[in-house]
Amino acid sequence: MLVVVLAIVGWFAGAAVWVVAHAQAAKRHPFGGPACDACGAPLGRLAWLPLFGFGMARRCPACGLSQSALRPLFEVAVAAFFALLAARQGWSLDLLAAVLFSLPLLVILLVDWWTKLIYTNVIGAGLLLGFGFSLIDGYRALINSLLSATGAVLVFGLLFVLAAVVYRNVRVVPFGLGDVYLAAMIGAMVRYPAVVSALFLGIFLAGFILILLLATKRVSRRSAVPYGPFLCAGALITLLTN
Ligand SMILES: [Zn+2]
Repeated sequence: MLVVVLAIVGWFAGAAVWVVAHAQAAKRHPFGGPACDACGAPLGRLAWLPLFGFGMARRCPACGLSQSALRPLFEVAVAAFFALLAARQGWSLDLLAAVLFSLPLLVILLVDWWTKLIYTNVIGAGLLLGFGFSLIDGYRALINSLLSATGAVLVFGLLFVLAAVVYRNVRVVPFGLGDVYLAAMIGAMVRYPAVVSALFLGIFLAGFILILLLATKRVSRRSAVPYGPFLCAGALITLLTN
């Protein structure tokens, strides 16, 4: 029963996450509402709902374009993720935390994938969620959360400096300051020791996919592939397996 409820919640959450990420990627207000992929005209409030407002807001009223078919797939993926979380954790505070943590992670995943930018307002919301749920778990958990975020900043900050030195030109480093903030957010959410495996998993996923993309010539050696989506994926998998 809980699994079905969470699948439905995830389906709606997936749609809303896409709308927010889409707005942020277009440099509009994150809660500015659904807009056309091509011309940016508003799609109407119904498009906040899954399946483009259940089929009623799929086409742009201004230019007539049918919107990205990836969005319904993303909604189903989030529904499946929430259902798995529910199956694994049952009705608990941990489930609520994992569901809420996944929202900023999913927004960052999409926005960074589309634009190679990570926005600090989403990071700030994620940090507050991480520290907030840690506080509910007690002051030891809060200290762990603070130290995990700080540790992640130190390690990833060092990687950022190293990458900048090796690549000389900061604009082509495969690793940005946004990734340092993101590592802090993940640290605050999953805490020590899970933060170690979460960030390693993200780096491993990024390396693995980059090698695949290079081997299949989908990207060139000079083009920057964003790290953030892989760090988010590593954190989401950690929320599921923790
Ligand atoms: Zn349009």
